[in-house]
Amino acid sequence: MDDSIQQSPEMADMLDAMDHLDVLVVGAGVSGIDAAYRLQTECPGKGFAILEARDAIGGTWDLFRFPGIRSDSDMHTLGFPFRPWRGDQSILDGPSIRRYISETAEQFGIDRLIRFGQRVVRASWSSADARWTVEVESGPDRYQHRLTCDFLYMCSGYYDYAQGYMPDFPGIARFKGQLVHPQHWPETLDHAGKRIVVIGSGATAVTLVPALAKTAAHVTMVQRSPSYIVSRPAKDALAGWAHRILPQGLADAIVRWKDVLMGAITYSLSKKRPRLVRRVILNAVRRNLGPDYDVEKDFAPVYPPWDQRVCLAPDGDLFTQIRVGRVSVATDEIDSFTETGIRLRSGAELVADIIVSATGLVLKLMGGMEIVVDGVPVNLADRLVYKGMMFSGVPNLAMAFGYINASWTLRCDLTARTVCRLLNHMDRHRYASCAPRHGDATIRKEPMLNFSSGYVRRAEGVLPHQGSQTPWRVRQNYLLDMLALRYGRIDDGVLEFAPKTSASATVRPS
Ligand SMILES: Cc1cc2nc3c(=O)[nH]c(=O)nc-3n(C[C@H](O)[C@H](O)[C@H](O)COP(=O)(O)OP(=O)(O)OC[C@H]3O[C@@H](n4cnc5c(N)ncnc54)[C@H](O)[C@@H]3O)c2cc1C
Repeated sequence: MDDSIQQSPEMADMLDAMDHLDVLVVGAGVSGIDAAYRLQTECPGKGFAILEARDAIGGTWDLFRFPGIRSDSDMHTLGFPFRPWRGDQSILDGPSIRRYISETAEQFGIDRLIRFGQRVVRASWSSADARWTVEVESGPDRYQHRLTCDFLYMCSGYYDYAQGYMPDFPGIARFKGQLVHPQHWPETLDHAGKRIVVIGSGATAVTLVPALAKTAAHVTMVQRSPSYIVSRPAKDALAGWAHRILPQGLADAIVRWKDVLMGAITYSLSKKRPRLVRRVILNAVRRNLGPDYDVEKDFAPVYPPWDQRVCLAPDGDLFTQIRVGRVSVATDEIDSFTETGIRLRSGAELVADIIVSATGLVLKLMGGMEIVVDGVPVNLADRLVYKGMMFSGVPNLAMAFGYINASWTLRCDLTARTVCRLLNHMDRHRYASCAPRHGDATIRKEPMLNFSSGYVRRAEGVLPHQGSQTPWRVRQNYLLDMLALRYGRIDDGVLEFAPKTSASATVRPS
């Protein structure tokens, strides 16, 4: 542990009276709130708390504050299934999503279970005691304390909160204007009337560019290579209609399943008929930008659809701003930063007052927490993911990790329900611990995420792997996962259970 971490006398006293929880949830974003609701309703006897490093609920939707921040998947599947999103606005702005998450936590009394300003830094499992000891830093002074739990449930997201990804562009220090990263958008930044260059063409750039263009003098989106961008209405006409004339429950189900099925069909078609889907996407861009625009150059990626996340332009906002001349796209490589902007490989110079590096996230699992099992540090990159939620050889620990081709909440909710089924199964059979065991040599190791996006490729050495067969496969398919996780056997011969021993039974409070 870091020697600089201090321990107050009060904290030292607290160590003696260590807190014990049946389940410890880490993170109060979408997945942490979902986990808490499921634990509360499906495992009512379990004592649990949520530790949250920040001072707010909402995770991603509280951290990101750049202009125009919004969802790029529909709220009817990004919302919680137990508190369906009932607005007809399907693509929603960040502040409204943050409010929806907070209000959900308040409505179900989950906000009272969150301990804010508590960063989990280390968790050590003891098989003899069948429990985790979790080391936590609290507050700005990073006071250190510990608590124990039977089951550790990581809802800590998938990226580094401290820093976004910023390539080391040549000459970056020379630039005399303002350089910002969307992950740390300065509250006071006034971009009205400014010349802005946004580097990147991922979901963040595609969100940010039309929003900045509303008041900026001009925005240029610089991309090394294009992404697929599709336009779709921000409002869901079916949702508006269904909620006006049908009973609420029926309307919720129809709208949600329509979005689940549309997403699944589009993804599956993209994998089976990539050339057809590419043609459809590019023809739609042509219709939006007119016959004179060089769509091949700026909007035709080198990879097939859904090899990387497809970006969304709600109501074609990006295309509209290009048409009216407030936005331009430069598909080129950055040669270097200059005092006044950016020089491109083609020799073109882009003059900028503000440069936004929308260059992505740094992937980080488990909120950077160190994991130790019986004294041996665990490197997740050596482990296989079991049912998309546990790790080979790591007992009593689950992680919420959503889909990359559909709303995050869909899988996080399935995971939460599966964790509850598992906990109830263990209670019924008086098991103290369970861990997936990988002993089948015929199962091949594959990357956990079959995605070619930069942030996934950069994290290859950090991410765990998936296996070539179930239950080690990390599927990007809600329907198959739903069948397997909601109705599949808990005791599947891969998950190994250990009974309560007298030792593990005596250390835990009743
Ligand atoms: C800009 C942006 C837009 C997105 N848009 C969409 C979208 O439209 N649809 C979609 O499905 N997904 C989207 N995503 C993915 C998004 O992250 C998920 O939708 C979802 O919000 C993730 O929820 P989460 O609770 O799992 O993680 P997070 O929202 O990341 O929350 C994790 C929480 O855990 C806390 N935490 C982390 N480490 C620790 C620790 N060691 N100790 C204590 N607490 C810790 C964090 O402080 C945070 O509050 C987007 C992501 C970004 C960055």
